[in-house]
Amino acid sequence: MGSLDKAQLTGFICRICSKMNKVVIHVYGEEGKRINLASQLQTYLGVDVYMNDDLPKTVCPSCIVKLRMYYEWMELIMKTQKEFGNTSNDLKISRVVSLSPIETDDT
Ligand SMILES: [Zn+2]
Repeated sequence: MGSLDKAQLTGFICRICSKMNKVVIHVYGEEGKRINLASQLQTYLGVDVYMNDDLPKTVCPSCIVKLRMYYEWMELIMKTQKEFGNTSNDLKISRVVSLSPIETDDT
């Protein structure tokens, strides 16, 4: 329903999935700034959205949800890796030590 021309007049192109959407979040709008959208897109998706580029500055709600899930997932992974000591040799060593049977050392 509705031609593409009409859609272009009534919607915004999502920067991430390129789909047309009536409801979008502007990267440099109030909401976009509040959730730090530009830096999240850069950090987690590798998408640079500059205020003065000629590309869309809008992201659709479905991509926002996915970005949030991805963000939370990444945070979880980083937290887990830290707990497993994969991020630092020191942590790894202390983890190995703490995994060995605890011997009472109260002399
Ligand atoms: Zn999208």
